[in-house]
Amino acid sequence: MNHKNSEKLYQKGLKHLVGAVNSPVRAFASVGGNPLFIKKAKGSKIVDVDANKYIDYVLSYGPMILGHRHKKVEKAIKKALKNGYTFGASTKNEIKLAKIVCDAFTGIDKVRFVNSGTEAVLSALRLARAYTGKDKIIKFSGCYHGHSDALLVAAGSGLATLSLPGSKGVPEGAVKNTLIANYNDIDSVKAHFDKHDDIAGVIIEPIAGNMGVVLPQENFLKELKDYLHSKNALLIIDEVMTGFRSKFGGAQEVLGVEADITCLGKVIGGGFPVGAYGARNEIMEMVAPLGGMYQAGTLSGNPIAMAAGIATLTELKKQNPYQKFEEVALWLENTLLEKANKHNIDIVVNRFGSMINPFFTKGKVTNFEEAQQSDTEKFAVFFWEMINSGIFLPPSQFEAWFLSSSLSEKDLEKTEKAIDKAMKAVAKNLK
Ligand SMILES: *Cc1c(COP(=O)(O)O)cnc(C)c1O
Repeated sequence: MNHKNSEKLYQKGLKHLVGAVNSPVRAFASVGGNPLFIKKAKGSKIVDVDANKYIDYVLSYGPMILGHRHKKVEKAIKKALKNGYTFGASTKNEIKLAKIVCDAFTGIDKVRFVNSGTEAVLSALRLARAYTGKDKIIKFSGCYHGHSDALLVAAGSGLATLSLPGSKGVPEGAVKNTLIANYNDIDSVKAHFDKHDDIAGVIIEPIAGNMGVVLPQENFLKELKDYLHSKNALLIIDEVMTGFRSKFGGAQEVLGVEADITCLGKVIGGGFPVGAYGARNEIMEMVAPLGGMYQAGTLSGNPIAMAAGIATLTELKKQNPYQKFEEVALWLENTLLEKANKHNIDIVVNRFGSMINPFFTKGKVTNFEEAQQSDTEKFAVFFWEMINSGIFLPPSQFEAWFLSSSLSEKDLEKTEKAIDKAMKAVAKNLK
C-alpha cells in the first residue's frame, strides 16, 4: 500500500498548519509514521488521497454512527442549505432536535446547543457552579472532557494525582478548583469531600472512552450519585462520546442512572459541529436569558448542523442498531482474543455497545493506571498492519474503536483476516 500523496500533503501541510493537523490525535504521534490524508468516504468505507480504501472504525471519533453520507442525512443537509446557512435567530429545527434530545434522556427537560463537546462540558461546569454556588469540580484520572483549561488535568499518569496542569499554557489558578479521583474508586471521591466543603459536582465519562474503553463497575455511578446528593453536589455525565451510541438514551439508559447535567456532542450533530448540555428545568433555568449564568454562541444551533442532527437521530431511532452493535462487538472481541491467543499475544478487550478496543496488556483494565500498562509499541505494529490490510483504526492505544450501522458481513470477514495478520506481525516483531 502506498501513501505517496498523503506524504506529499503532509510535507506541504507542515508549512501553514501546526504539525499539518487541526487536532493532535490525527498526527499519528503515538504509532509513528505520518498522518493519512482523507479524500472521501461513503457507508462503512473511507478513502485516502492515494485511493486506498479502508473499513472505517474511527468514524470521525464517533459521530458517523450510520456510516458516511447516509442518503437521508445528505438529503436533509441539501434541503437545509437552500434556505441559508446561519441567521443569528431561532429556527424551527432547533426545537425539533431539542425535543428528540429531551425525549431520549429522562433527566433532560431543557437543552442548550453549542458547537463542540468541549464547549458543552465547560458550560456544564459553569452551570453546576452557578446552581450549587460552589467552585470545586472532581474529575477522574484518564477521563477526557475536551480541552478547556480547568479540565486539562490528569491527562498523563505522572501529573494525575497532583492536580497539575496537563498542558503548557494552563495556569495553576485555572486548575486549582479541579480535584482528581480514580475511576471506579468511590473512596477517592469521598476523600475529597472529607477535605473540601465547596465541591459543586463530579464530572465523569459514564463509559470511559478516552483511555481506551473502560467500564464502570456495577453500581458505581448509582452509588456515586447517591453520595453526591447527600453532599448537595451534582453528577455531571459527559455523554459526548456515549450519547446515542450505546443506546438511544445513552449510557444513562443502559446503566439506569440519571445525570443532574448531561453533556452531548459527536453523534448529535451527524458529522457537523454540535454539542449540547441539558438538565432538569430548575437547573437549566439558571442559564441566560432565563437566569444569571451567561453562555452564548454565534453559530450555536446552526441550521445545517441541526438538519444533519435531526436526520441522523431520526434514522438511528428507526434502525435501532443497538442489538446488532452488541452482536458485532461480541464477535469482534472473540475474534481479537482468538487471534491474539493463536499468536501468543497478551491482550485484554474492553467493550460497551458500539465502542471496543484491545489493550496490549495482561490482567484487566478498570482504570487509567491499568490502561497505562499497555504495550504501545505492540499497538503501533498492530495499527500499521491493520492500515496495510485496509482497516482504519484510531492511531492510539488509548482510543475506542467505533462501529457504524453500515458495516457489512464482508467488512467483518475482511476485518478478521486483517486481525489475524496483524497479530502475527506483532508476534514476529517480538522475536
Ligand atoms: C470528544 C469528547 C469531548 C470533546 O468534544 P469536542 O467536540 O472534541 O470538543 C468531550 N468529552 C468526551 C467524553 C469526548 O469523548
